[in-house]
Amino acid sequence: MPVAIVQMVLGPLQNNVYLLADEESKDAVLIDPSFEPERQAAEIWQRGWNLRQIWLTHGHFDHTQGAAGLRKLFTPAPLVGMHPEAQAWALAYGEKLNFGYQMTPLPDVDIRFFHGQQLSLNPEADAPIVEVREVPGHSPGSVIFYCAQAGAAFVGDAIFRESIGRTDLPGGDYPALLAAIRAQIFTLPEDTMLLPGHGPASSVGYERAYNPYVS
Ligand SMILES: [Zn+2]
Ligand SMILES: [Zn+2]
Repeated sequence: MPVAIVQMVLGPLQNNVYLLADEESKDAVLIDPSFEPERQAAEIWQRGWNLRQIWLTHGHFDHTQGAAGLRKLFTPAPLVGMHPEAQAWALAYGEKLNFGYQMTPLPDVDIRFFHGQQLSLNPEADAPIVEVREVPGHSPGSVIFYCAQAGAAFVGDAIFRESIGRTDLPGGDYPALLAAIRAQIFTLPEDTMLLPGHGPASSVGYERAYNPYVS
């Protein structure tokens, strides 16, 4: 099954929004819907894909803003997946920490993520190809999505090219983030592409060698 990855850069914080799709079945998952859900939907329609699910790496508003809008644009509405601790964080702090942006409330969560969970692009039809790994420290309930078949991990704001996620917001924990990166990201195969929530892609091997915080 050939998997495709599409990256969009959207919203005032230049978020990377990713599509992961099976080009045969046309089943697609959208990871971290930032602002501009209409543009995200247009990318999906243009490819003839069916949006089955929306997966959230963590509860920060810039990664979740488009979820409610996307659910309205597709029938049946895509399922929303999120870690329970990330959902709790978003409900407690999402409105307060909006940095002045207009907020769209988070929709209901259908799939509760946990460490080691195996995910399919279409839970009703496909075999699982993605593993959920908990990577706490940037924000409570942060997870990454590792797809061995694509040779890629969607890492949210846990790690960036030569940088790491901020830990100064409520629930942030710097030592926990360093430990989680080492245990959950640096243990992936060296050539695994790291696809972060902001900025350029990297790889496990590159960050192990050059990341100034955790190498
Ligand atoms: Zn974040
Ligand atoms: Zn972010």
